[in-house]
Amino acid sequence: MQAIAPTSHTQVRRHPERAVYDLEQIHSILDQGYICHLGFVVDGQPFVIPTAYGRSGNQIYVHGSAASRTLRSLAGGIKVCATVTLVDGFVLARSAFHHSMNYRSVVIIGKAHLVTDPKDKMEGLRCLTNHLVPGRWEEVRPPNETEMIKTSLLSLPLNEVSAKVRSGPPLDLEDDYPIRVWAGVVPLRAQVGEPIADPHALPGIPVVDKGRFDRGLTDSPVAQRL
Ligand SMILES: Cc1cc2nc3c(=O)[nH]c(=O)nc-3n(C[C@H](O)[C@H](O)[C@H](O)COP(=O)(O)OP(=O)(O)OC[C@H]3O[C@@H](n4cnc5c(N)ncnc54)[C@H](O)[C@@H]3O)c2cc1C
Repeated sequence: MQAIAPTSHTQVRRHPERAVYDLEQIHSILDQGYICHLGFVVDGQPFVIPTAYGRSGNQIYVHGSAASRTLRSLAGGIKVCATVTLVDGFVLARSAFHHSMNYRSVVIIGKAHLVTDPKDKMEGLRCLTNHLVPGRWEEVRPPNETEMIKTSLLSLPLNEVSAKVRSGPPLDLEDDYPIRVWAGVVPLRAQVGEPIADPHALPGIPVVDKGRFDRGLTDSPVAQRL
């Protein structure tokens, strides 16, 4: 698939061998994440705000209250940096210095735009809802006119984007191998719990299938690289 050219902003300098610019891998990381952090500056003050998102093609959508400072600021055309992080494991080395984490992360830089066309907005909200729970949009009541007015939807293109991936064991110094302490990787996995029915749930309705939440969180699709 297509590789995206790094810019002066997205060129990974620290551990460049962990950089990924392949769009298919970037999409795969975004599709497995649940939240993104939006970083932006208002009146000289940086903010980093966590929020839900969805990906469609080469863009992500974020949404929220039309009154939200974050959404109003970004809709005003200021620059934003969005990050998505998947933590795959704790990396325990023989020295404190070489401890690390295995991860897959994406950094997106750019300007978001407000989606105003009603059809596009509905489609973006569908994307966001189905990103959290595939097929959910098709099961539930769609937003009404008032809810649509109360909601802002922003699209952020994946034009300036980088991914970084660490996998594999700790990178210890040769001299440290004789130290008698356990070293290796402790995998970290997101787990779906047992669904808890809402007190108002109508009888006879099948419980949501837990399998719908499995988005391959247990498998890093990226080849081992050290
Ligand atoms: C879960 C997790 C834990 C981490 N813990 C540490 C830690 O404790 N200490 C530490 O120094 N680093 C840690 N990192 C790595 C960290 O994200 C940076 O990559 C690293 O600190 C280098 O920062 P820098 O500003 O020098 O990057 P530079 O290489 O100068 O960054 C230049 C550009 O490369 C891209 N880039 C950099 N990092 C990432 C990334 N993680 N994902 C996608 N694109 C990226 C961005 O586009 C960025 O603008 C961690 C990463 C993750 C995901």
